[in-house]
Amino acid sequence: MDARDPESPDEWPLPPAWMWGCDKCTELYKAMKRASEAARAALEANGPHVDCDPFDTVVTSQLRLGQHIAIQHPEDVPMRDTSCAKCVAPEMEQMPEQLVRQHRARHLFIPPSMVDRL
Ligand SMILES: [Zn+2]
Ligand SMILES: [Zn+2]
Repeated sequence: MDARDPESPDEWPLPPAWMWGCDKCTELYKAMKRASEAARAALEANGPHVDCDPFDTVVTSQLRLGQHIAIQHPEDVPMRDTSCAKCVAPEMEQMPEQLVRQHRARHLFIPPSMVDRL
Protein backbone atom coordinates (compact mmCIF):
# COMPACT_ATOMS: atom_id res chain seq x y z
CA MET A 1 0.00 0.00 0.00
CA ASP A 2 1.16 3.52 -0.76
CA ALA A 3 1.60 6.13 1.88
CA ARG A 4 -1.52 8.25 1.90
CA ASP A 5 -1.98 11.87 2.74
CA PRO A 6 -4.90 12.06 5.17
CA GLU A 7 -5.33 15.75 4.37
CA SER A 8 -6.16 15.11 0.75
CA PRO A 9 -9.93 15.32 0.26
CA ASP A 10 -9.93 13.18 -2.89
CA GLU A 11 -7.85 10.37 -1.44
CA TRP A 12 -9.67 7.03 -0.93
CA PRO A 13 -9.38 6.17 2.74
CA LEU A 14 -7.88 2.83 3.64
CA PRO A 15 -10.83 0.75 4.87
CA PRO A 16 -10.57 -0.51 8.47
CA ALA A 17 -9.19 -4.01 8.98
CA TRP A 18 -12.52 -5.49 10.13
CA MET A 19 -13.97 -4.85 6.68
CA TRP A 20 -11.53 -7.32 5.18
CA GLY A 21 -12.67 -9.87 7.76
CA CYS A 22 -16.18 -9.79 6.31
CA ASP A 23 -16.71 -11.45 2.94
CA LYS A 24 -19.63 -9.22 2.09
CA CYS A 25 -17.73 -6.01 2.91
CA THR A 26 -14.78 -7.17 0.83
CA GLU A 27 -17.02 -8.08 -2.08
CA LEU A 28 -19.01 -4.84 -1.98
CA TYR A 29 -15.87 -2.74 -1.51
CA LYS A 30 -14.18 -4.32 -4.50
CA ALA A 31 -17.31 -3.85 -6.62
CA MET A 32 -17.38 -0.19 -5.61
CA LYS A 33 -13.73 0.37 -6.51
CA ARG A 34 -14.22 -1.43 -9.83
CA ALA A 35 -17.23 0.75 -10.66
CA SER A 36 -15.30 3.91 -9.75
CA GLU A 37 -12.32 2.94 -11.83
CA ALA A 38 -14.49 2.02 -14.82
CA ALA A 39 -16.27 5.38 -14.59
CA ARG A 40 -12.98 7.23 -14.38
CA ALA A 41 -11.56 5.34 -17.35
CA ALA A 42 -14.71 6.14 -19.34
CA LEU A 43 -14.35 9.79 -18.37
CA GLU A 44 -10.78 9.85 -19.63
CA ALA A 45 -11.76 8.09 -22.85
CA ASN A 46 -14.93 10.05 -23.60
CA GLY A 47 -14.58 13.37 -21.85
CA PRO A 48 -17.01 15.06 -19.47
CA HIS A 49 -19.73 15.69 -22.10
CA VAL A 50 -20.63 11.98 -22.12
CA ASP A 51 -22.44 10.35 -19.22
CA CYS A 52 -19.75 7.92 -18.18
CA ASP A 53 -21.84 6.13 -15.60
CA PRO A 54 -25.33 5.97 -17.12
CA PHE A 55 -26.53 3.31 -14.71
CA ASP A 56 -25.14 5.05 -11.63
CA THR A 57 -23.17 1.96 -10.72
CA VAL A 58 -20.75 4.05 -8.70
CA VAL A 59 -23.40 5.56 -6.47
CA THR A 60 -25.31 2.29 -6.23
CA SER A 61 -22.24 0.34 -5.21
CA GLN A 62 -21.41 2.95 -2.55
CA LEU A 63 -24.95 2.79 -1.22
CA ARG A 64 -24.92 -0.98 -1.04
CA LEU A 65 -21.74 -1.02 1.00
CA GLY A 66 -22.98 1.77 3.30
CA GLN A 67 -26.25 -0.08 3.79
CA HIS A 68 -24.53 -3.36 4.54
CA ILE A 69 -22.27 -1.74 7.15
CA ALA A 70 -25.17 0.14 8.78
CA ILE A 71 -27.16 -3.08 9.14
CA GLN A 72 -24.50 -5.72 9.78
CA HIS A 73 -21.81 -3.70 11.54
CA PRO A 74 -23.70 -0.97 13.45
CA GLU A 75 -21.15 -1.04 16.27
CA ASP A 76 -18.37 -0.23 13.80
CA VAL A 77 -20.06 2.81 12.26
CA PRO A 78 -18.01 5.88 13.21
CA MET A 79 -19.38 8.76 15.29
CA ARG A 80 -20.37 11.86 13.38
CA ASP A 81 -17.52 13.72 11.78
CA THR A 82 -17.68 17.34 12.92
CA SER A 83 -15.78 18.45 9.82
CA CYS A 84 -18.49 16.97 7.57
CA ALA A 85 -21.28 19.37 6.59
CA LYS A 86 -23.77 16.54 6.27
CA CYS A 87 -22.95 14.92 9.61
CA VAL A 88 -23.57 18.18 11.48
CA ALA A 89 -26.56 19.29 9.38
CA PRO A 90 -29.71 19.84 11.48
CA GLU A 91 -31.76 17.55 9.22
CA MET A 92 -29.63 14.63 10.35
CA GLU A 93 -31.46 14.88 13.68
CA GLN A 94 -34.74 14.15 11.89
CA MET A 95 -33.46 11.30 9.79
CA PRO A 96 -34.11 7.67 10.67
CA GLU A 97 -31.24 6.16 12.64
CA GLN A 98 -30.61 3.71 9.83
CA LEU A 99 -30.02 6.44 7.23
CA VAL A 100 -27.79 8.41 9.57
CA ARG A 101 -25.70 5.29 10.11
CA GLN A 102 -25.51 4.69 6.38
CA HIS A 103 -24.11 8.15 5.85
CA ARG A 104 -21.56 7.83 8.66
CA ALA A 105 -20.49 4.44 7.32
CA ARG A 106 -19.56 6.17 4.07
CA HIS A 107 -16.78 7.99 5.92
CA LEU A 108 -15.00 4.65 6.25
CA PHE A 109 -14.52 4.02 2.56
CA ILE A 110 -15.20 7.15 0.49
CA PRO A 111 -12.92 10.16 -0.06
CA PRO A 112 -13.94 13.15 2.09
CA SER A 113 -14.79 15.16 -1.02
CA MET A 114 -17.47 12.60 -1.98
CA VAL A 115 -18.95 11.64 1.38
CA ASP A 116 -21.45 14.46 1.70
CA ARG A 117 -22.99 13.91 -1.72
CA LEU A 118 -25.37 11.39 -0.21
ZN1 LIG B 1 -19.55 -6.69 6.30
ZN1 LIG C 1 -20.57 12.88 7.28
